[in-house]
Amino acid sequence: MKILFISPEVVPFAKTGGLADVAGTLPKAIRKLGHDIRIFMPRYKKVDPEKWGLKLAVQGMEVELGARKETVDIYEARLPGSDLIVYFVESKHFAEREELYMVKGKDYPDNFEAFLVFCKAAIPFLKKIDWRPDIIHGSDWQSGTLILYLHELRKSDPFFKRTASVFSVHNIAFQGIFPKEKFALMNLPDTYLSEAGLGYWGKLSFIKAGFVYADVINSVSETYSKEIQTKEYGYGMEEILRKRSGDVYGIVNGLDYELWNPATDKNIIKRYSRMTLSLKLQNKLALQKEMKLPAEKEIPLIGMVSRLDVQKGFDILAEAIEEIMQLECQLVILGTGDPKYHELLTDMKHKYSKHIGIKLGFDAPLAQRIYAGSDMFLMPSKYEPCGLGQLISFKYGTIPVARKTGGLADTVHDFDAGTGEGNGFVFEEYSSTALLDAIKRAIEVYKNKSAWKELQEKVMEYDYSWDASAKKYISLYMKALDKVIK
Ligand code: ADP
Repeated sequence: MKILFISPEVVPFAKTGGLADVAGTLPKAIRKLGHDIRIFMPRYKKVDPEKWGLKLAVQGMEVELGARKETVDIYEARLPGSDLIVYFVESKHFAEREELYMVKGKDYPDNFEAFLVFCKAAIPFLKKIDWRPDIIHGSDWQSGTLILYLHELRKSDPFFKRTASVFSVHNIAFQGIFPKEKFALMNLPDTYLSEAGLGYWGKLSFIKAGFVYADVINSVSETYSKEIQTKEYGYGMEEILRKRSGDVYGIVNGLDYELWNPATDKNIIKRYSRMTLSLKLQNKLALQKEMKLPAEKEIPLIGMVSRLDVQKGFDILAEAIEEIMQLECQLVILGTGDPKYHELLTDMKHKYSKHIGIKLGFDAPLAQRIYAGSDMFLMPSKYEPCGLGQLISFKYGTIPVARKTGGLADTVHDFDAGTGEGNGFVFEEYSSTALLDAIKRAIEVYKNKSAWKELQEKVMEYDYSWDASAKKYISLYMKALDKVIK
């Protein structure tokens, strides 16, 4: 099968969250199954052409934007560690931005044009290189319009007649909503602007383009694929998704164990495995030192690596944090996001310097040292499409404390000291008291050294590699193709 995998972020080139991890690893697993999959992404300013060996593929391709035209260049490189081709769209929009979609909490004003041109560029490009994909697989709102153009082109263009589409949603809260006046730039018949199309409460929505026009839709866990069809989690998209519920699937994300493995991780102080678990302690002591905390081996260390956003539970954590500081534990947080949480954490560091260590920013190597050096990993998310932190933690023998929602509900189960069942500490109600209670239970069990070690050994054995999920994506592609080729 030929698959064009379109994503606005891909590890190792550009990342803001879990989508980048998926886009940099799932295609590799699909490639291993023998398919010709290629990635299509923006060439942001931060994607260094020299470092990644970008070569010009097509120069000066024109893309229509209403009555005007914009020119883009397309580069190509190989995904490191594989023979997989990655295409990069270079446009004036991406070349000028330091970040991906927003700076200091504010969206870039030309996001509409940037991602419309990005999607539109794929069409002439595929024809130019004469590579006709069986599947176009888009992710999140930034890729939504390509799904729509494919739908429109299939009516008249023989090149795309037998190409099917899959649209994956990694986070339904980000929707690409723009003023409807911008519709004129899309060069589409007016019918697309109706509420049955892109129209959304007097505006237009790019994510809706994916939901309405994709042959098959999926999200990144079973539970989240059901949750997004409800009012509580659907962020206004629940109705359209309910209408299409027969086409909505859930496939849990996998991990690339070449990247996430304490036995080979070059960013941690001391490598270890399930057989040499006692070495994990050296990572804890080093992390305490790095985060300017007392280096004590007995005190439970709770780690967190996260966007600082209400989605990730920072409002209930803010409510509980003073009480957490009174418990026998240390807290280490790496994250960046909402300035109000930057401020809160900075205050906490001043007030409780022996209990909390913080780093405000994006720091991939430090993230690895936190997964390795922590005893527990905190994910109090309000909603969580899949969540990678808990899966990474398992591999590093770090026990999750998590809220029962989305992918967390599918993968973390409450530990029962009586039966030994479960693999983490789970709370259901979205409240600071429920969160505190789960942390206290984790600290209690931590005191029982042998029970804790058993728990660590159990979770380190899990296999969340992409192998199983990649096969599920292939069956999803077959389902989409069935709809097009009758
Ligand atoms: P989301 O995509 O919603 O942000 P996920 O749990 O799916 O959440 O994925 C988050 C990924 O980003 C994980 O690999 C996590 O380690 C990483 N990450 C999040 N924040 C940071 C940060 N500040 N520095 C380094 N890595 C981070």
